[in-house]
Amino acid sequence: MHQPQGGGAALNVIMLGPPGAGKGTQAERFARARQVPKISTGDILREAVQSGTPLGLEAKATMDAGNLLGDDLMIGIVRERLNRDDARRGFVLDGFPRTVAQASVLDEMVNGRGALVVIDIVVPEDVLVRRLAIRRICSKCGANAFTEGLGACGKCGGALIARADDGEEIVRERLKVYQRQTKPLVDYYSARPTFRSIDGNQTPEAVSALLDAAVGAATGSAPR
Ligand code: AMP
Repeated sequence: MHQPQGGGAALNVIMLGPPGAGKGTQAERFARARQVPKISTGDILREAVQSGTPLGLEAKATMDAGNLLGDDLMIGIVRERLNRDDARRGFVLDGFPRTVAQASVLDEMVNGRGALVVIDIVVPEDVLVRRLAIRRICSKCGANAFTEGLGACGKCGGALIARADDGEEIVRERLKVYQRQTKPLVDYYSARPTFRSIDGNQTPEAVSALLDAAVGAATGSAPR
């Protein structure tokens, strides 16, 4: 049912790594270059919060506290998204899976759809804390920016704002949640031939180059 179309294997990629590692930035660039959808569960939830949908109302307090939403809820959202036509050629997932339970259902979901390439972006914790302190997002298009001030989005001109969960205390909580619930995914995936770790403590351009090389090595493919 979900065979890739137009020849070639589907390019299914997930980005692992702590908050601030650059998953969103890299997923965005990669998705644009390879013409596959970027599926960011954090973006989906923030949009729902902003538009006040039932999902948004349910998610807001948990997100603001830096905790994870329930596995069943998140799995439902991703299952629905991966079933859309545009994900048949592949996808880049940013922010999912975040628990072993989510990872194991994802394995079932991609079964028969081609390999799952797993990229772990590694960045030291002190760098993450510094990055998140100056992270802003566009209130209109959701793009990330790193700046001490507020100002306007370089992509769409919308107002840049701090994320509700990027305050110092919540960041520490999110890093703890990452260590406890998401880091075990590295063990879950690391023995697979399609797993790659990359050094995320570099410029976005340098990390993009590493990511391209890692995906190429994991799939035996050149960029298309
Ligand atoms: P992110 O933008 O990926 O940092 O996600 C922001 C917040 O959304 C997280 O701190 C969680 O509260 C929630 N969230 C996003 N993805 C997931 C997920 N896969 N499982 C549980 N909660 C999630």
